[in-house]
Amino acid sequence: MVKELERKMQDFILACRKRGLTVGITSTDRKGIEQAALFAQGRYSLEIVNMYRKEAGMYLLKDVKENVVVTKTMASQHLVGRAFDIVLGQKKHYDLKVDSNHTGGPDYQEAAEIGRGLGLKPGIDFGDPPHYQLP
Ligand SMILES: [Zn+2]
Repeated sequence: MVKELERKMQDFILACRKRGLTVGITSTDRKGIEQAALFAQGRYSLEIVNMYRKEAGMYLLKDVKENVVVTKTMASQHLVGRAFDIVLGQKKHYDLKVDSNHTGGPDYQEAAEIGRGLGLKPGIDFGDPPHYQLP
């Protein structure tokens, strides 16, 4: 991860915490083979996807229901150390409507605003709410 993003990520986590939002980091830098495995997901059979995952040293998907598209690109900013993914909440959730800190706005929207304020580009603007990257 590039230094600039490392600093911004730490600032982001702290700023979210001050607002009562717990941030978990689920993904940072990826190797090409990991991105290929993620890209295969939802596009190829579970068997093929798991071949990629095994090759990349990732855990294998157990259920065909998990075999859904999780990335739109092979040219991910994760490959060049310029992106990270989050999950919010003590009870980790991806629910875009949840307002766990009772501020009147959804947690993921609130986190995106905080990220924007720190000079991050929130993925919520392009249909990938857990994702943040450098502009
Ligand atoms: Zn991401």
